[in-house]
Amino acid sequence: MLSIESVYAGYGEVKILNNISLTIPSGQTTALLGPNGAGKTTLIRAICRMIPLTSGRISLNGVELSTLPAHRVSVAGISLVPEGRGVLYTLTVLENLELGAINKTVRRQLKNRLECILEVFPDLKAKLHHVAGSLSGGQQQMMVIGRALMSFPKVLILDEPSLGLSPLLVQTVYESLVKIQNEEKLTILLAEQNAMNALEIASQVYFMDHGEITRSGEPALFKNDSTILSAYFGA
Ligand code: ATP
Repeated sequence: MLSIESVYAGYGEVKILNNISLTIPSGQTTALLGPNGAGKTTLIRAICRMIPLTSGRISLNGVELSTLPAHRVSVAGISLVPEGRGVLYTLTVLENLELGAINKTVRRQLKNRLECILEVFPDLKAKLHHVAGSLSGGQQQMMVIGRALMSFPKVLILDEPSLGLSPLLVQTVYESLVKIQNEEKLTILLAEQNAMNALEIASQVYFMDHGEITRSGEPALFKNDSTILSAYFGA
């Protein structure tokens, strides 16, 4: 379980996160939804130790993350698919994937892990030796999810994976996430602005606005909630 307790954080003097608490159960998908500027990316940066906490605690299965340096957070089992994807356009797809093999233990299992990831994302097989810049947006998204999975993470965090993708491709990416989660009992934290698909695959949802958690619960509670639908989905 990933546990975030009373977290305050921001950028220098600028306070963004205000008393954030979330419980992200193991083996399930938790959606973090909120409009542009709500603070989703900032919270993800705090979890991944890319910004310091002003106060609060973040732990994974009881292991305190809030004091670790950023590179130890990935070793502890957290893998991030950042907003904007972080594609290395001039490297090949294979080279991009290999970058996810973060330590010797993973590198020893590189071939098997690659095969497993290419089963989830078969579109990438024929593209392995092509430069990543030649891929479509959907293929790039699959590649960066594959890269994040190379390290056998316990927790996969995705920041707006549907950004810039057509509805059909969003569905393909989400179906892959469900498949991986079922196969690997992965814990997923999915931050999204455009969230109807996220509500479909999540087992719990947190809504965020102005740096605070405003609502939380099972997705079914919100699917017919007109206040939430109009506030977050423009419905
Ligand atoms: P988006 O979907 O647009 O990424 P978000 O919910 O992820 O939105 P954040 O990116 O976390 O929101 O932004 C929250 C607030 O933090 C915004 O007011 C934003 O302007 C501010 N912010 C983000 N990055 C920085 C930074 N490096 N320095 C100062 N303020 C920042």
